[in-house]
Parts: sequence; structure tokens; C-alpha cells
Amino acid sequence: MEDYEIRGVTELFNTWQGEGPRMGKMCTFLRFKKCNLHCEFCDIKHKLENSKECNCNIIEDVYEKIKSTKYLLISGGEPTVYNNQIYKILDYFYKYNILIGIETNGLFINNLLKKVDDLIFNKNNGIPPLFNLEFYWSPKIFSDNSHEGVKYTTLDWFEHQLKVVNNYISDIYIKLNNKFKSVPQIINLYIKVLCSDSLDYENIIKISTKYINNENIYIMAEGVSPIDLIMNSVKIPNLAYKYNVNISSRLHILHVVP
Ligand code: SF4
Repeated sequence: MEDYEIRGVTELFNTWQGEGPRMGKMCTFLRFKKCNLHCEFCDIKHKLENSKECNCNIIEDVYEKIKSTKYLLISGGEPTVYNNQIYKILDYFYKYNILIGIETNGLFINNLLKKVDDLIFNKNNGIPPLFNLEFYWSPKIFSDNSHEGVKYTTLDWFEHQLKVVNNYISDIYIKLNNKFKSVPQIINLYIKVLCSDSLDYENIIKISTKYINNENIYIMAEGVSPIDLIMNSVKIPNLAYKYNVNISSRLHILHVVP
């Protein structure tokens, strides 16, 4: 009997995706508790510090909730701190025709891709999963490099990590196509750039456009309240026009979605 007990989850409910390429799409939202960074503009840190882990049967609850949404959105905190738990979720839903999205700051995304590779090629003999997997990577590269615990997230690190992650995704795609012809792209990477003054956002956009299709890049304004978000959104269209990338609102900050 496989162990599908999922630990570290603080919230599980149906809502709408608040930002990025799937903004406004109904989803089953699963939130993990811990994060490996300490961003000063974090809109969730305080809530997470005071949250309790769910003691329900997460997999069965997800199974019930996902029937109406077909879209599991894994967020945090930082989900990739919980890569072993995500592996169990991907394993359980391997044969379900659903979309699984993972919000991430990118620090451990390569470790998760190793696990995805293992799940496909070792556990399932190269038979592709029915789910589609999307990563929504929001890089946290600070402009003054003085934030606690984030000194290692430099622009050089970001560029290197982006190359590594891209290689992992294309390797998986090539290996699948060597085995079965015309396998669709089941793993997609999106970059969501938060245009906060404390982040080196313009350089993040520049590096992203070197490695990722512009259509997979979204920029969005900082803000932990609706008024902040609206005020900070003014510069977004010009910036998006300059780099030919997409823009996104953040519906949860506007309180349009919970
Ligand atoms: S990476 Fe995200 S969840 Fe973690 S502290 Fe920064 S903004 Fe908050």
C-alpha cells in the first residue's frame, strides 16, 4: 500500500487562480506552510506563521474538490520545500487528465524536476502522465542584496538556474518523444516577474526573455493592499510594451477572489 499521506498543508479550498497565465481560472488551491525566503513584501508570511497544518486526508479531499475544477494549484509558502510531498501528489494523480500548477520562487525547482523525471522514467517506465504540469516561477532577486536569507539569489544564480531548469524540461520532452512519437509538451514553465522596487525586476525580465518565449513571461505590480496594487500598476503597461511580455493583475490582492 502506497503512502499518500501529505504533510505540511495549511489550506485546501476551491477558488480562482489570482495571477499569471491562468488568472481567473477555477482551481483547487493547496497551500504548503513553510517558505525558504523572507521577502519583505510577502502578502502571506504573517498568515503562514500563525497557520496550522491540516489534519484531514489531503489526497481524498483534493480528489473530491478537483472533480469540479480539473486544476490543482499548489502554492505556499514555497511548495518546493515539500518536494517529497509533491512527488506523492503527482504519483497519485498520474493517470488523471488534470492541470497541475506549482507556484515557486525557483530555489529548489531543479530538485523537483529530478523527481518528476524519476516518476516518469523509473516508476512508470517512460509512459507519460495524463496530467499537464505548469511551473509559475516568480524570481526573488533583490536589488540591494541585503535581505536575510536571500543573498544567494543573485542574477547570475537566476540565469544559471533558468538554464538548468530549461534543460531538464527539454530532456524530459526529448526522452518521451524518443519512446513515443508526438508526445505533447506536458511540462511548461512560466516566469512571473513581480515589479517591486526591492527586486531587480528589469534585469529579471531581460534574462527571462533570453531563455523563455515572451508569451510565457508575465509581469505584475507589487502591493499587499488593493490601493497599493492599483498605484503600483501604473508603470506595468509601459514596461510590458518595452519587453513585449504579458501583464497580469493579482485578483487575490484586489479581494476579487479569496
Ligand atoms: S518567496 Fe513568496 S512566500 Fe516566500 S517569503 Fe517571498 S513572497 Fe513570501
